[in-house]
Amino acid sequence: MAVSTEPIGIIALPPGAGARDEERLPATAAHVATCPLCGGTAGCPAPDDRTASIRGVVRLCRCGACGFVFAADAADAGTEDGYYDSMGGYQRFVEVKKDEWRALFRDLARLAPGRRLLEVGCARGHALALSREMGWVPCGIEISRDDAARARADFGLSVWSGTLETCPFDDGSFDVITMWSVIEHIPRPLPALRACRRLLAPGGLLSVATCNVDSAAAASAGPDWSMFRLPGHVSFFSPPTMRRALAACGFEVVRLETGLGGRPVNVDPAARRRLTARRVASRVAGRLGIKEPLRRAILALSPELRERGEFMNIVARGK
Ligand SMILES: [Zn+2]
Repeated sequence: MAVSTEPIGIIALPPGAGARDEERLPATAAHVATCPLCGGTAGCPAPDDRTASIRGVVRLCRCGACGFVFAADAADAGTEDGYYDSMGGYQRFVEVKKDEWRALFRDLARLAPGRRLLEVGCARGHALALSREMGWVPCGIEISRDDAARARADFGLSVWSGTLETCPFDDGSFDVITMWSVIEHIPRPLPALRACRRLLAPGGLLSVATCNVDSAAAASAGPDWSMFRLPGHVSFFSPPTMRRALAACGFEVVRLETGLGGRPVNVDPAARRRLTARRVASRVAGRLGIKEPLRRAILALSPELRERGEFMNIVARGK
């Protein structure tokens, strides 16, 4: 078993971001943690009295064996009943997201063997309702009981409130399962991915969207990276760890892409200027209709950028 590399830092929650007294780490927590991906040993920041007593501090660890980044003690921090019941503030993003969802559903329709869809983490059902308009037969899983109830009441959707591992759907019932901005919230991703594999019909697809912990944006922001939102986010993938996790759970990757864009949040001034320049360039390119050729040209010039975007979109098929 490999021994640790250095920890990547101690991340404090922003004020009022959901920290509660009971989420304090015990002062006796160990300096090492077991990687939820490969079982290797990861080094963690020392849980000295000072950090352990700061409200809402969670330790991030990077596995010495596989490179997976995760929150130590994640199982005890923030995923208990009720945590997600206060997470309804995404409403204002719905309109912005619709074009993106439409494009993703259209893309998946081209690759999938059928139209039976399960969205894991369906929130209040807006994406599922849109999918139904596009000819999909949608079902959802949502850990927030309030949001699941809203999805049922507002859209008449079939939504299970609970986790993937406990859902009542039969094996092989879906042609596509989506997990968009969800897997970073799951402390033990492998059982969840295995459950997806079971629920998929032969040839079925899993679509995952999450942040990339080995992105250029994450590297320049360090511990201030905007995706280190704890305790909500606990599992941080990179392209290699995502491929490893999917392979371990019976999937083959059909496509893995990272977005070149990045939000200039908590980035040092030089990086912020680079990101702003890139965003302006990409917006102008988008207006001129040359976004995709430009993106491909940039990738051809520097192939290493392929895996350095801040967000990943993955499509995988059951083996
Ligand atoms: Zn590992």
